[in-house]
Amino acid sequence: MTTIFINIKELLQTRTSTIEKVSGQEMKILPSIKNAYLLVKDDEIIDYGVMNDTCFGIADEVIDCTGKIVMPTWIDSHTHIVYAGNREQEFVDRINGLTYEEIANRGGGIVNSAEKLQNTSEEDLYKQSKKRLEEVMQLGTGAVEIKSGYGLTPEAEMKMLRVIRKLKQEYKLPVKATFLGAHAVPKAFKNNTAGYIDQVINEMLPAIANENLADYIDIFCEKGYFSIEDTKRVLAAGKKYGLKPKIHVNQFNIIGGVAAGVEYNALSVDHLEVISDEDIEILKNSETMPVALPSCSYFLSIPYTPARKLIDAGLPLALATDFNPGSTPSGNMNFVISTACIKMKMTPEEAINAATINAAYAMGIAESHGSITVGKKANLILTKEIPSYGFLPYAFGTNNIDSVFINGKKI
Ligand SMILES: [Zn+2]
Repeated sequence: MTTIFINIKELLQTRTSTIEKVSGQEMKILPSIKNAYLLVKDDEIIDYGVMNDTCFGIADEVIDCTGKIVMPTWIDSHTHIVYAGNREQEFVDRINGLTYEEIANRGGGIVNSAEKLQNTSEEDLYKQSKKRLEEVMQLGTGAVEIKSGYGLTPEAEMKMLRVIRKLKQEYKLPVKATFLGAHAVPKAFKNNTAGYIDQVINEMLPAIANENLADYIDIFCEKGYFSIEDTKRVLAAGKKYGLKPKIHVNQFNIIGGVAAGVEYNALSVDHLEVISDEDIEILKNSETMPVALPSCSYFLSIPYTPARKLIDAGLPLALATDFNPGSTPSGNMNFVISTACIKMKMTPEEAINAATINAAYAMGIAESHGSITVGKKANLILTKEIPSYGFLPYAFGTNNIDSVFINGKKI
């Protein structure tokens, strides 16, 4: 089965060879072809270029893209979309003046989500989660990482990871599973963080590895959650099972999480709303991708990751949603790129690079996704008729997507 997209107003993110990521000044460049065609065979991109007469009659299916842009799908390298129930009451509490930390101290926050999840069946959890996955796919997300971390008991963490595995089996997009047992200290281990870390390392990790349920390991490295010492213990344990770290660091405080992540060869360090010059130097000498989560900053009214500082220092940057019930009840990558441009002063080129090619790196799928390259998977966004790609972040809140293709098939 071959499909040809013809009369494409502009084909974005065309890369002749597979590059892993773009950093610093390179992020300003978004290669593209105007008046282009794109040829797909089964699930793979096999050819593209400037429109010419040979484009006609060579494919089983022809899609006319006059006035429309084609680009790789968004890649969301950081989500928590498997969760039970919602937390709109805490949202109202925050409007009325409580902080995220105060809500957590009153038994709300992650621990609240954990209680709901523990009391939800695996089947019901799957049903709730697949609705969210289908929603974000329609919004242009063509690959997604999903974390555990709302279980906080061995049984409930396994339940979450099995739901992620089922999503991976049922849907055709790449799904990566991250074990985030160390997301918060559960009530049963109050004032005994070390005891909980023991359980994460000695009970949960071996069971998860035994069923091959996780690709990566994560921890919420933050004051009031888990220390640098806890972080190093968990990452060292994960390493034994071949799980690379992707970790939550520097959301509220700088406690050394970036250095710990780099020390354990983290694929990504995520959040970075606060970051020191020292952290930037450490990242420069690493293979670790910094990931910003602007929808979280928006929802919590906390500082945005200083993208300009990172990019101008020569670093790469990826963007993701952090879709979760507490701090980011939205998985809309279009809103993420708008917010990155509006609030973080990223250019549209930088934001699109951050949400495609660099995001693929942060998810560990750069070889097969993230750009229009021969041999890569045909996970594509076809926009509505829009004046230019700058219109995507500019017209925030508007859905500019006509259709989404996963492995060459329209969803
Ligand atoms: Zn997160």
